[in-house]
Amino acid sequence: MANKFTYHYRIFGCQMNVADAHDLSARLDQYGGQPVDTPAEADLVLVNTCMVRAKAEDKALSYFGELKHLKGTGGGKMLVALGCVVRRSRERILKAHPHLDLLLDYSDPDGVLESLCEHFAPLKGIVPTGEFTPLYDAGDCRQHFVTAIRGCHHGCSYCVVPLARGPQRDVPLERIVGEAKALEQAGAPDLTVLGQNILSYGTTSGDREPRFVEMMETLLKETKFPWVTFLTSLPTDLTDEICEKVISNPRVTPLLHLPLQAGSDRVLASMKRGHTMEHYRRIISKAREQRPDLYLTTDLLVGFPTETEEDFQETLKAAEEIGFDDAFMFAYSERPGTLAARKFADKLPRTEKLRRLNELIRLQREWGAKRNARYVGQELDVIIERCENGDITARTAFNKPVLQNQRMQP
Ligand code: SF4
Repeated sequence: MANKFTYHYRIFGCQMNVADAHDLSARLDQYGGQPVDTPAEADLVLVNTCMVRAKAEDKALSYFGELKHLKGTGGGKMLVALGCVVRRSRERILKAHPHLDLLLDYSDPDGVLESLCEHFAPLKGIVPTGEFTPLYDAGDCRQHFVTAIRGCHHGCSYCVVPLARGPQRDVPLERIVGEAKALEQAGAPDLTVLGQNILSYGTTSGDREPRFVEMMETLLKETKFPWVTFLTSLPTDLTDEICEKVISNPRVTPLLHLPLQAGSDRVLASMKRGHTMEHYRRIISKAREQRPDLYLTTDLLVGFPTETEEDFQETLKAAEEIGFDDAFMFAYSERPGTLAARKFADKLPRTEKLRRLNELIRLQREWGAKRNARYVGQELDVIIERCENGDITARTAFNKPVLQNQRMQP
């Protein structure tokens, strides 16, 4: 029987990190762990780092500093840094934050648990079986994730993910289905299947492996979730077959997150995205044909080193023409070790990048509001996430928050 212990998890970065944290928490709970709200209360403090953008990396590094005062407060507290930033900056972290006890340059739950079983006293002697029941908290109805792919091999020139998380590794289909079924049995109302480029599922392990379409068809057949979402998709891998066999399925949510990044073919080629505007337009039109209720979101990156004012105007034009329901918008920040950092000088002044970003944000807000207007007067199904003192927080199938506040009632 495992010893009891408390743990606190701080997550920086993307949904992959959130999914990893959920999976590791489920394993820790299985071996006697009890989550707590603050690092001060915890025997084990885990910090999952992200370096996709400089801001997330800086935040994680500064958080390590905040943990310093916890050392020496007694009780043998263990501080662990995980993930991308550790992989890239181990020496720097060790030098600046010697109070950290363990630095793991990965965040995949099985690997982290194995290391903790070696180094963290309450888990010592445990031999993890690899089996676990995904975490489901009936009081917390946020999206429920199953990870299908770890890492990425695509190599977009600005992106640090392939360096930080390694090449693509597919989770075996039986395991994906097993985790989905466990979530379903525990009462989770919906499912989100995750991968850095989920559409490339099965493409690294030989011709006989199931591909994305088969994986989704199997998941839909083996479970009864009314809402299944897949994230994230690289436009170049979105095919007619996926539109016809997956996006058209009414149990697949209308949410499609398809990062465009830029509206200029020249910049897209420098980014090594693998798609052109023509492909993007054509495949979106196909997806909308299959799913008239498609809720299209995207990522847009301004200030890439080779981006001229004309290129930026093409991004604005593309965003207006395609009509995104929502967009995550960023200014380029150079990530060490990437192809873009080696090949191009990041000469565009930060003030100019921010000017472009602010203009894009302002316009996308206007365009997004116009698209959102199509929901006025419509009745939509929602999942209720919280209900407190008559105030209700819910979300739609396409993950849009819906609020009903007592004070808003007529
Ligand atoms: Fe990065 Fe491109 Fe892979 Fe996405 S598809 S994780 S942007 S390399």
